[in-house]
Amino acid sequence: MAETRRCPVPGCNATVAPGKLMCLRCWRQVPRAIQSRVYATWRKYSGDPTLSALEAYEAARNAAISSVVEQRP
Ligand SMILES: [Zn+2]
Repeated sequence: MAETRRCPVPGCNATVAPGKLMCLRCWRQVPRAIQSRVYATWRKYSGDPTLSALEAYEAARNAAISSVVEQRP
């Protein structure tokens, strides 16, 4: 059975595809610079799963979520 995840953006509640951080609609609102930071920190953590790499990824992930929340009317 496939795991169903919900978008972490507050108030969104859309279904998120496996392996994705958030739903596509929210992800499109994330600025390019933060998107690349999420990819880069995730790649680093995958290859080198240290606590500091995880913290860097989580910081990028939180920045992505905040960037979507800040664009809300
Ligand atoms: Zn969403």
